[in-house]
Amino acid sequence: MPPEKYSFKTEVNQLLDLMIHSLYSHKEVSIREIISNASDALDKARYESLTNPDIVVPKEGWKIRVHADKDAGTLMISDNGIGMTREEAIEALGTIAHSGTKEFLAALKNKNMENSPDLIGQFGVGFYSSFMIADRVTLFSRKAAAKDVTGIKWESTADGSFLVEDTPKDTPGTEVILHIKDDEKRYLDEWQIRDVVSKYSDYIEYPIVMDVVREEDSALEKGKKVKMQKEEQINSGKAIWLRDRADIHENEYNEFYKHISHDFSDPLKVIHYRSEGTSEFTCLLYIPGHAPLDIFYKEFRIGPALYVKKVQIMDHCEELIPPYLRFIKGIVDSSDLPLNVSREILQNNRQVTVMKNNITKKVLDTLTEMKNNDGDRFRTFSREFGRVLKEGIHYDHVRKETIAGLLLFSSTASGDVAMRTLDDYVAGMKQGQNDIFYMTGTSLGDMAASPYLEVFREKEYEVLFLTDDIDDLIFSGFEYKGKKFQSVQKGDINLERTGEKIKTDGRFDNLIDFMKTILKEDVKEVRVSGRLKDSPCCLVGDVGDLDPRMEKMLKAMGQEVPVQNKVLEINPDHPIFASMKELFERDGMVPLLEEYSRLLLDQALLLSGSRPKDPARFSRYLSDLMVEGARHASPAERPDKA
Ligand code: ADP
Repeated sequence: MPPEKYSFKTEVNQLLDLMIHSLYSHKEVSIREIISNASDALDKARYESLTNPDIVVPKEGWKIRVHADKDAGTLMISDNGIGMTREEAIEALGTIAHSGTKEFLAALKNKNMENSPDLIGQFGVGFYSSFMIADRVTLFSRKAAAKDVTGIKWESTADGSFLVEDTPKDTPGTEVILHIKDDEKRYLDEWQIRDVVSKYSDYIEYPIVMDVVREEDSALEKGKKVKMQKEEQINSGKAIWLRDRADIHENEYNEFYKHISHDFSDPLKVIHYRSEGTSEFTCLLYIPGHAPLDIFYKEFRIGPALYVKKVQIMDHCEELIPPYLRFIKGIVDSSDLPLNVSREILQNNRQVTVMKNNITKKVLDTLTEMKNNDGDRFRTFSREFGRVLKEGIHYDHVRKETIAGLLLFSSTASGDVAMRTLDDYVAGMKQGQNDIFYMTGTSLGDMAASPYLEVFREKEYEVLFLTDDIDDLIFSGFEYKGKKFQSVQKGDINLERTGEKIKTDGRFDNLIDFMKTILKEDVKEVRVSGRLKDSPCCLVGDVGDLDPRMEKMLKAMGQEVPVQNKVLEINPDHPIFASMKELFERDGMVPLLEEYSRLLLDQALLLSGSRPKDPARFSRYLSDLMVEGARHASPAERPDKA
């Protein structure tokens, strides 16, 4: 087939344009990116070779080769890994913009590239970054295990299009040739290449070899030196996790993290340790600095990579970590699991359970330590992963209290900032207070202004604001250090004597009975409130009821939610009830009081974040009242004609 011309996808073109004109001072990252692609291609080939007999381990071993040709002005980086078919190359290198590209371009929208060329370093801009140092890139590839020996050639000068043609290739794998720009020729220099490799790619477990020219004694003529070309390995290839912690520079940890996680920014925390005893294994785990977008998707791949004696067995081993720690990335290398360990074995293996418990404890200990000694970092953690960690309260009965102790809350005491721990809360409890009070909702602003808090505010009881969808599920019925969680939206509240019913002098008993008959279809009960100070009334659930947030969520998900009538609580100190009582006792003004009772219920519905039962009727009542009010207003304010 003759060469065919393809256009780059729009996003790719935008990215290429930025690369060509980049002022970024660390353009060598493009070499790192190509080596990293080569290493991924080797991982894939090695892994597939375990099950696919058509993929044979190359005689020279899995390898990455770097070759600089100063005369031709080219830098070649090749691997004998999985390779690409024609279709794969067209997709991967031009017509599909991978997620990193989109994120990168989105981040750029907010910044001026000229002023912040460093942004490139914060993103894995991948293959296309090669155009920072090359004005033309040629790539040859042949898919491993393909029946014929035809490969493909891909070439572009980043001018909006690329060419692809079939071409024979002797061995499987990929060869990338960078035609280095005139002012970037230093990247053809042996020492420069060594420097880049040792800085960014030293941990790559495959040998990275380079052809070097050295003067050696001639074998033919004594005393004469001749130039010899030989192959030299330029990375140490030592598994970073097996090295001594003291010898590892922070930068090496970070580079390795970026390599395995495909994240572009530094991790928040490195956890590197060796466990000895019943089970011997080494962990190099990372807490990322930000949550990936798909962490709440079912397809999210959980767990660190599992190695057995330096050989990767699987890239995500979910048996090693509980789902509520699924943000953890990294690798676990076991010294005593069998090499041919399968998923089935892992699922029922005692040793694996021991490892999982050990890792879980280590991560929670690390977080506790961070909470106590590194508040800023811990707040970042909490913002990014608090919602995930919280799931553990529901699922991990043994550690639920430890996990709850690691959460940060907003509350009436902290304002908008989530910074209160449960220990802070407990320490600030009032004398005689047995419960931890909380409220659930979507907006901190709405919650802070809610009538449910009136008495709590007046008496200075702290109330936690819970904004996550799962909060009610997690916290209703939960106890922390013997203190029960109690929703301010549910049950009878009597702050003077927690647990006791509010006692009133019975002043409103008749009026309440009247309201009950009027509203009997819509409320479970009408009673005097222990939580209101300024507002006339509110609706509350019973202790076991769904909370309003949960109810809305289930409805939104299309679930049948049983109609649960709420309790209407009235504030005996609000003047409206004195007036209503008077009307009731004096004139028995039944139609008007009926109207008022319904209006009060509608207000309570509004205050709880719901709609009035019949919005049209509500609006009619309200405008009638406004007309009435206007009639009694002073003449100067009267809107009607004099
Ligand atoms: P990323 O590596 O982050 O996916 P790149 O732009 O660097 O993004 O590469 C795009 C894709 O091209 C890779 O995902 C891979 O499918 C393919 N690719 C790149 N280099 C190689 C290679 N050396 N061998 C096989 N496939 C490769």
